[in-house]
Amino acid sequence: MKVLSPREAAIFASLADAVAMPEPPLPPVRGTDAVEGFDAWLAAAPRENRAAVRASLLGLGTRLRGRDRSERVAILRALEGTPGAAPLMEALRAAAAAAYYGDDAVLRRLGYDAAERVRRGDVLRAAKATPPEAAPPAAVSPAGGVVDLSGFSGRRTVHADVAVIGSGAGGAVVAKELAEAGARVVIVEEGVAHDAAEFTARPRDMLPRLYRDAAQHATIGRPPILLPLGKAVGGTTLVNSGTCFRTPDRVLARWREEFGLDLDLAPHFERVERELNVVRVPPELAGANAHVARRGAEALGWSGGFVERNVRGCAGSGVCAFGCPTNAKQHVGVTYIPKAHAAGATTYTGVTARRIGRGGVEATTGGGGRLGVEAERIVVAAGAIHTPALLARNRLGNRNLGRHLSLHPATAAFAVMPEVIDMARGVPQSYFIDEFASEGIMLEGIAGPPDYVAMGLPVAGERHRELMEDYRHLAQFGLMISDDTRGRVHSLGGRPVVRYDLTETDAARVRTGLQRLDELFRAAGATSVLLPPAHKLIAFHPLGSARMDARPGHGVLDAHQRVHGTDNVYVCDGSAVPSSLGVNPQITIMTLATRLAAHLCRS
Ligand SMILES: Cc1cc2nc3c(=O)[nH]c(=O)nc-3n(C[C@H](O)[C@H](O)[C@H](O)COP(=O)(O)OP(=O)(O)OC[C@H]3O[C@@H](n4cnc5c(N)ncnc54)[C@H](O)[C@@H]3O)c2cc1C
Ligand code: SF4
Repeated sequence: MKVLSPREAAIFASLADAVAMPEPPLPPVRGTDAVEGFDAWLAAAPRENRAAVRASLLGLGTRLRGRDRSERVAILRALEGTPGAAPLMEALRAAAAAAYYGDDAVLRRLGYDAAERVRRGDVLRAAKATPPEAAPPAAVSPAGGVVDLSGFSGRRTVHADVAVIGSGAGGAVVAKELAEAGARVVIVEEGVAHDAAEFTARPRDMLPRLYRDAAQHATIGRPPILLPLGKAVGGTTLVNSGTCFRTPDRVLARWREEFGLDLDLAPHFERVERELNVVRVPPELAGANAHVARRGAEALGWSGGFVERNVRGCAGSGVCAFGCPTNAKQHVGVTYIPKAHAAGATTYTGVTARRIGRGGVEATTGGGGRLGVEAERIVVAAGAIHTPALLARNRLGNRNLGRHLSLHPATAAFAVMPEVIDMARGVPQSYFIDEFASEGIMLEGIAGPPDYVAMGLPVAGERHRELMEDYRHLAQFGLMISDDTRGRVHSLGGRPVVRYDLTETDAARVRTGLQRLDELFRAAGATSVLLPPAHKLIAFHPLGSARMDARPGHGVLDAHQRVHGTDNVYVCDGSAVPSSLGVNPQITIMTLATRLAAHLCRS
């Protein structure tokens, strides 16, 4: 064990046994690698999470000792109803369920064969690969490419016209556009580059590798909200669902009227969509899960459709959020970044930017070394949570910094369907329902392998087992709200801490959205519907924490994304987006990055 003591491991096993309550033919917890899987996941968690989990396990151990399974479940339920203890207990229950169902033999018993997806990915990637003799001569300059400094312990200084911090949706795009325009570009990225050949189609393996803090970061507030972020070359686009929505006209109108931002984004959107190969999901790849939602929406007369996505040769492997094994997803790590490199840019990975000054960027490496990037201009693209913390640490920005954070809080409902769904076959997010978009509620597909489902089911014990035995018949559909709540990113010694208290209006939107999901599934013929508690939320779209605003004194950035009070520092990521969008934000961020690059080239 990397983290758990033998006593803590035994308590976790007892918890997993109560939550999953396996009966033959499912193996007992001790016959699986549930505890080892949980231990590895915990090892990648932030230190404070590890400490809280271990302390809770020890506390729980005293209560669970000598109790039978049903008594243990009852104790857990009581604790989940106790103010203060509830969020941690819910998280432990979810982790215990995921740990048990993440065992490979258990996954296969439920019809999910991760190895088969990996093999199919290998075949599809090999078929797409260009034979070396047919490949065009590489246009890579001697400087272009990835330099991994994760283990580097020395000091190095490099020179550039532009230093870009972060290689996600914003950073990769601005880097490629500037490099192709002839600028010397250096990207610093805290994560590392990943190859699709490493992806195992198992959430347990991929969460610690591709996500920051193994996807265990949460907000502080009422309620705490899980906030997963990617950390890799490609940023969060590496783990996202590939859904592409342009900024809605109603939002652009609001930006014009409220923030004085009259943005002509159409040509930039077209450019981004060409680079990413944005195409509509064909119905035959959408998966049975999407067809349940479509059937329900059509029966109710609700407006919706198949999603547009950035993919090339998608095979419907169903694991976009855990690394696409076929490399079909056209995330920026396989689109913009290679083009930036071909135009001479260099990405230094395993490097964390710490200091931003007139002369450039100073960064530290995973191995205790230092990288200095001397550059005339700096583009901060560390994402809506890390950018404000980094600016605050460097005393950049004004009193708006960190404020105005929106999240698009999200949740999802499950339904038991009469027909086989196999929700992890097909594109997980392939259908949307925008009937309630004007009320700030968007319904979108979501799906995943059995361990992902086990984690999300809002029950424990026998009912959990019954539902998991019915995994092949389970359908799921999600909702996200266009939030009016505004949170704040604080910087504690340079580390971001997010405070976000959901307003009653937004909480009501979540409750209404859940009722709509209930109606949707019933109209589609569900045998039963499971709604999560309305306070159990996750958020995938942090935005606005260093917002652009043409009105002096209202934003952190001017209308060209320059940080007020500086003449050479720009921000180009989710934090620049002025308000909640109501739709998935990746191509809005990329479009603003394209616009920024055009502006920097002109000026
Ligand atoms: C599971 C999931 C599914 C999603 N699905 C969709 C979807 O289908 N469609 C959609 O539009 N959006 C989706 N999103 C959201 C979308 O991916 C993000 O909004 C977008 O990637 C944010 O772009 P960004 O440039 O702000 O930050 P990111 O893409 O997160 O990139 C920031 C990068 O900066 C790096 N970094 C941070 N701090 C530092 C530092 N100090 N030094 C160096 N590097 C640093 C990080 O490691 C990271 O790689 C999803 C998000 C998640 C989590
Ligand atoms: S569904 Fe997602 S993971 Fe599967 S091939 Fe398509 S993009 Fe890749």
